[in-house]
Amino acid sequence: MSDGSFGLSAWQTRRTFIGTGPLAESVAVDMAIIGAGYCGLVAALHLARAGRSVQVIDGKEIGEGASGLNGGQVIPGLKYDPETLLSRFGTAGPRLVDFAASTADSVFGLIEREGLDVPVVRNGWIQAAHTETALRLARERDRQWRSRGADTQLLSAAEVAAMTGANGYVGGWLDRRAGTIDPLAYVTELARIAAEAGARIATGTQALRLERRNERWIVQTSTGATVTARHVVVATNAYSDGLVPGLARTLVPLHSFQVATAPLLRELGEKILPGQQAVSDSRRILVYYRKSPDGRLILGGRGRMSVPRSAADWKHLERALRRLYPDLADISIERRWFGRVGMTPDHLPHLHAPEAGLIAVAGCQGRGVGLMTALGQAIARHILSGDPDELPFPLSPIRPIPFHAFRQIGVAAAILWYRTLDAFEK
Ligand SMILES: Cc1cc2nc3c(=O)[nH]c(=O)nc-3n(C[C@H](O)[C@H](O)[C@H](O)COP(=O)(O)OP(=O)(O)OC[C@H]3O[C@@H](n4cnc5c(N)ncnc54)[C@H](O)[C@@H]3O)c2cc1C
Repeated sequence: MSDGSFGLSAWQTRRTFIGTGPLAESVAVDMAIIGAGYCGLVAALHLARAGRSVQVIDGKEIGEGASGLNGGQVIPGLKYDPETLLSRFGTAGPRLVDFAASTADSVFGLIEREGLDVPVVRNGWIQAAHTETALRLARERDRQWRSRGADTQLLSAAEVAAMTGANGYVGGWLDRRAGTIDPLAYVTELARIAAEAGARIATGTQALRLERRNERWIVQTSTGATVTARHVVVATNAYSDGLVPGLARTLVPLHSFQVATAPLLRELGEKILPGQQAVSDSRRILVYYRKSPDGRLILGGRGRMSVPRSAADWKHLERALRRLYPDLADISIERRWFGRVGMTPDHLPHLHAPEAGLIAVAGCQGRGVGLMTALGQAIARHILSGDPDELPFPLSPIRPIPFHAFRQIGVAAAILWYRTLDAFEK
């Protein structure tokens, strides 16, 4: 089974983007973009609109990377709260905080401006606290964002219970800047408008090698055709391979698994997430959930590190579903799927420019819908202007994680340990 093959979220319309297909002939362009997820496509859109010739290539089809498989939660912010970013990044801190605050806006703004055919609900995201310690952190997060003008609110246990219909939370935090989208519709629509802006998009075309010759990059691809370009953007994120030496080893790729229930009966649908907020809980191994526009509960969380073999590999999510919603004990699970999430050791996305004309981005930390949309835009602006200040993060050298090959074993052990701790705190 390959990534995601348990179903691109099939309750969402499986849209085929007309015009894609393998790269049949060699081309020479201004910009080659590897990876047709949110980041690559948003960069392609902006570069094409600025008059650059653009060739995007992806080894798979549109939506078969994380951008079509994700939970559809559009959440602003980074792993760290504003005050931590300010103290850690010094003079670059304020720009980074502004960027972090704006990532959800960049998705909803783009969908609205371009009139994209993407189901959207912007009613906020609840970070639900399962312990008093988690609630203290939520209080602190709320203070830091609210003092910067963000529309956020601390929630009591009763408020979280009323808004989620779920068991077991002592309170939480509502961030009204956030919302949900249909992820597959979003990536498909991005491909459509990038193509309409003039970007060429080839799918089923793996970039195999990058060579620099006469101040141009030559991308050798799996079809035998090449792309010659002045600039290359590598937007392969958690699916990075050996294309840029060392890049894949800067990431710990994790699997995020999801399940979708049958549509909820009306009475339950009115009780569970009546306001359609997105939710993540505060457990070490968290679960996240939302209701789809057609009334299913979609719940996700970490899954096994190796490729799943059967439906039993999603059982932990079904247990979480029953813990939160005992009324759903008998509901049928109609879809199971998974995708890859790229984590970095410092929990921040990394931008690299290892050679002239080459820029690579990786590490979405599972919060890449807003982040990768905003980064795609920032990378395009940076390429067009040459101004490093267009990038929210400083460029950094590619630093492979030591003993990377063993890292996954460590992560698997840590996940097991964290699950045990979470179970004790129930
Ligand atoms: C199950 C799951 C749930 C998630 N839930 C959420 C959520 O609710 N909210 C949120 O904000 N984030 C979520 N994320 C994270 C989010 O989906 C990603 O951060 C985001 O989609 C990454 O976009 P991207 O463009 O950087 O990469 P991707 O969309 O992964 O695109 C990278 C592309 O590069 C291609 N590629 C790789 N190597 C090559 C090569 N050599 N040649 C050609 N093509 C190549 C791949 O085929 C892939 O299509 C989730 C992720 C997963 C997997």
